[in-house]
Amino acid sequence: MSQLKPQKSLYGKLLAMTLTPLLVLAVVITSFSAHSFANTMNEEVKKGLMDLNSTILTLYDHLYPGDYTVVEQDGALYLLKGEHQINGDFSIIDTIKKNTGVDVTFFYRDIRVITTLTGSDGNRMIGTKVNAVVTRDVLETGEAAFYPSVAIGENNYFAYYAPVINSDGSVMGMLFVAKPTEEVYKSVIKSVLPIVLLGLVAMLLAAVITIRFSRQLIDAIKKIQSFLAKVAKGNLRDVLDYDVAKRNDELGEMGRYAVTMQKALIEQVEKDALTGLYNRRYAEKKIREVQNAQLDEFNVALGDIDFFKKVNDTYGHECGDVVLSRVAGILGKNMRGKGFVARWGGEEFLLVFENSVFEDSVDMLTHILEEIRREEIFYKGKIVRITMTFGICKGNTDNVDLLIREADSKLYEGKNNGRNQIVQ
Ligand code: GH3
Ligand code: MG
Ligand code: MG
Repeated sequence: MSQLKPQKSLYGKLLAMTLTPLLVLAVVITSFSAHSFANTMNEEVKKGLMDLNSTILTLYDHLYPGDYTVVEQDGALYLLKGEHQINGDFSIIDTIKKNTGVDVTFFYRDIRVITTLTGSDGNRMIGTKVNAVVTRDVLETGEAAFYPSVAIGENNYFAYYAPVINSDGSVMGMLFVAKPTEEVYKSVIKSVLPIVLLGLVAMLLAAVITIRFSRQLIDAIKKIQSFLAKVAKGNLRDVLDYDVAKRNDELGEMGRYAVTMQKALIEQVEKDALTGLYNRRYAEKKIREVQNAQLDEFNVALGDIDFFKKVNDTYGHECGDVVLSRVAGILGKNMRGKGFVARWGGEEFLLVFENSVFEDSVDMLTHILEEIRREEIFYKGKIVRITMTFGICKGNTDNVDLLIREADSKLYEGKNNGRNQIVQ
């Protein structure tokens, strides 16, 4: 018989089928969350910076009422708010920086007048100019602008620039507030990391459960597969793994059906359909097993129904079948636990007595023959009675064929000697 080997393992397929959607889901959820989180974060930072910007402008208005003006003296520019000189007065912006971590800069036009930003030399970046993009976006339009990523010196910032407008509507300069990107990211990571870790753990757990579940399923399938393979190769006595047989799911049911099939196969291969006894082929196999087991003592008998042809001829073939079944029933019942019985031919039966001394076997056979003689078989209102002739031999483990032939010749002897007897 050619063997059909699966080309791809079901385990791999099952894992791919269950883990792929899990992975895709994880990627989709992660990227979607990351995207919306980044948006929300941008909005939050922007809003915070806008609020702070307008708070600072309001504070300056309260402290130093009046417009911003610029005075030039000895080639240097001095920015005033009302009467107050803003140049050199870092107290307010430094306090804000200290308390909020936000950098602040006052611009006259596009030039930094006071700032918390410092260059690589550690000095405040006073007198330096703003990026041309900001000049165009804010100074020229008079509109505020938010940038999620601005490089100033060596750092990156979330930055908000608002125009500083005097009472006549002229744009005098800008107020810049900005938060270092690194700082924002640090606080984001601090708050998001536990959630991400939790998500990862949940994913891992789901993966582990999936893998374990798949493995269990595949194990059960493999056990059924191996059971069926052995039965298919003729090992009809193989036993299905108990863990599979007791499962209360479809696989358990499949396993139990396989066992039912095995039993049906045993019936077909080993049993005789009419009598339910072992057939001749299986009896030959069994007798060899007995021989190999080297039992202390075993004995073999062959029995044949007397004048059976007459039963068929007188009452019909169907009646003959009923008689065969009845005889088989008596033989089977009496041999239970003592050995086995098989239908050897048409109306011929083989009896093997295991672990029994010869005299005991003859006694048992005598008892069987008496029961058969007494048996009244009713068929369509008629009573049929039969007798049998047996030949019995002392078992030896050397040559079973010879032993059966010997039993057969004793049976023949009995037939020639008037039938209805046991010949030893
Ligand atoms: P003897 O006492 O010498 O054994 O005579 P007998 O009539 O029993 O023996 P014989 O060999 O002449 O006839 C056996 C008959 O058994 C012939 C055959 O048709 C019948 N037989 C064989 N198998 C079956 C069966 O399965 N069913 C029925 N009804 N008859 C069967
Ligand atoms: Mg006969
Ligand atoms: Mg015969």
